Amino acid sequence: MFDHSRRNLAHWFALSMGGILFAFAGVGYCLNVEEQLRFFDEELFSQSKTFASKTQYTLTQNQRDRTPIEKDVSLNGGLLYARWYNADKQLVQYLGGSSGVRQLTTEPGFQTLLLSGDPEYTQITWVRQVTIPVLQNKELIGYFQAAAPLDSLRSSLNQARLFLALGVPFTFVVIGITGWFLGGLAMRPTRRAYQQLQRFTADASHELRTPVATMLSNAQVALIPPEDPVEQRLRLQKIAETAKSMSVLINNLLFLSRHDSSLAETTFKPIDLSELLRSLAAEFSTQATAQSLNFSTQLPEQSVMLHADPNLLKQAIINLLSNALKYTPAEGEIQLCLFTQSHRAVIQVKDNGIGIPASDLPYIFDRFYRVDTVRSRQTGGFGLGLAIAQQIVQVHQGQISVKSIIAQGSTFQIELPLKV
Ligand code: ADP
Repeated sequence: MFDHSRRNLAHWFALSMGGILFAFAGVGYCLNVEEQLRFFDEELFSQSKTFASKTQYTLTQNQRDRTPIEKDVSLNGGLLYARWYNADKQLVQYLGGSSGVRQLTTEPGFQTLLLSGDPEYTQITWVRQVTIPVLQNKELIGYFQAAAPLDSLRSSLNQARLFLALGVPFTFVVIGITGWFLGGLAMRPTRRAYQQLQRFTADASHELRTPVATMLSNAQVALIPPEDPVEQRLRLQKIAETAKSMSVLINNLLFLSRHDSSLAETTFKPIDLSELLRSLAAEFSTQATAQSLNFSTQLPEQSVMLHADPNLLKQAIINLLSNALKYTPAEGEIQLCLFTQSHRAVIQVKDNGIGIPASDLPYIFDRFYRVDTVRSRQTGGFGLGLAIAQQIVQVHQGQISVKSIIAQGSTFQIELPLKV
């Protein structure tokens, strides 16, 4: 699936970039031809003008008597032929090449001609010809026509074509490889998200399989006419307990999927964090006393205001406090602290319980991660409490972290931006 999408991305990238490349190469080539031809024309025109002015006298003389041109006049280096026509467009004289066209048929300006079939030019095929009207005292006295071979221009254009013929396909291949590489990069987050989802589904199914099997076996036995009504009652109790734990798990899963993205702005309210923690402390100190734990608080007298969803934030702190109660043996200490630090509110849940091994700390906030499945199962945990707490803190633009030493205790810390 991902390879197919990657191929598609690379394909479209190569097609679009290749299209742009071909368009650029085409336009670049045309502009180059135009530029070189303009330069060639300017050169031809200036050579022709120099030559025409040198022979203007000849043209005036020959206009009437048509005597041959003086012998000392010779063609400029670059010119192939030169022709003089009188004002009636009749050929008067020529130099170089064959006699050419006796009657001037072309308009003044530039033309590109193919001199095929002309015995004089067996080697040269393409020429650029210019026809210039010759004026004397603002009066047209004739026309001057000259031509130069296009060999140099053609060979330079051939080189450009060769460069494009090799360079464009090569660049196209490079674009294709780049597209494939970028496609891989673009697919990476999707692939990671998909793998996470797959792992999450597999973990959730795995977690649900055991209680469902327990419920099924207990229900099957409970359906048999009872020999001992007490045992049947125990089995029904087991079914009820398992169903309750499944319901907790399903609620947690629903919670995670519901609050996976950012929260709507309307759910955020200004809340007093010290008041929220005080009410939680009252709840948990009763539970702690029941478990023979010492529960203390360090909360500021003044209010600590921030923008948050009070129910979600409460849930995150409850998860940390429940863990502290779960993983601290009797006579242990649990402390809930709140203080502010450079525009941030810092909540700490400290305990001197069993602690977390250093090797487990990097994964502790992953979904379904439990340090030790035996101890978690004893406490009925699914490994979702910290993942939920982290998700809640993240949707509040906060951070959650942990410091823990095995057999000495743990400190979980939540940092939240204060309301400004
Ligand atoms: P669970 O529901 O299993 O407690 P959590 O996500 O809340 O799942 O916690 C993940 C794991 O982190 C637990 O299995 C437990 O081993 C460890 N843990 C969490 N809090 C504490 C703590 N305060 N002291 C020791 N271990 C903890």
